[in-house]
Amino acid sequence: MTKLLDFIQGITRLVEANLPENLLVSEGSVLLKKLVEKDDWLPEAYAKPHADFYKQYLLYADPLDRLSVVSFVWGPGQKTPVHDHLTWGLVGCLRGREKQTTYTNNPGQSCMPTETSILLPGQVYAVSPELGDIHEVANDLPDQPSISIHVYGRNIGRVQRHVFDLATGAQKTFVSNYANETVPNLWF
Ligand code: FE
Repeated sequence: MTKLLDFIQGITRLVEANLPENLLVSEGSVLLKKLVEKDDWLPEAYAKPHADFYKQYLLYADPLDRLSVVSFVWGPGQKTPVHDHLTWGLVGCLRGREKQTTYTNNPGQSCMPTETSILLPGQVYAVSPELGDIHEVANDLPDQPSISIHVYGRNIGRVQRHVFDLATGAQKTFVSNYANETVPNLWF
C-alpha cells in the first residue's frame, strides 16, 4: 500500500497548493502516471470484475471532500454511459486497454463524438469542465478485464451529476456510488 499512500500524500499536497487547474492536472498526471506504470499494488478486493456491470471501488476519499481515488474495473465489453464529472478528473490505465471518447452536449441536440483515445497501462487522461467534461469509457479488450485508477476533485461517488442520452442529448441526474464496503488499509 506504500505506493497508494505515496500517491495520496502527493496529490493532497498538490490540492493544498491551490494551483490553477491546468497545473494541478499536469502535475497530478505525473504523480498518477507513476502510480499506474507498474501493476503490482492494487489489492484483489478492488480489482474484481462483475459479469454484468463495471465496478467502482473507492480507494480513498479526502475528509475535507477535496479529492477521491477510485478503482474502475471493466469486464469484457463493458462501458460507462456518456456522463459528466463537474470537477477535474484524471484517469490512469493500470491493466488492459481502455477506449475513451469525448462528446459534445448542446441543448436539444444529439451528443457528437469529438475525440477518441486508447489508453494503455501507464497512460493518463484528464477531464474537467474546462478541458471537456462529457465522455464515455469502455474496456477495449473483448476477452479480459481492464482496470484504471481515477482521481477527482471531489468525493465523486456522492456527487449529483449527469448521464446523457446519445440520440437526444437529454440529461438525467445520477449518483454513481461505490461497490465496496471497506477501503484499503493505508496505515498499518
Ligand atoms: Fe468519467
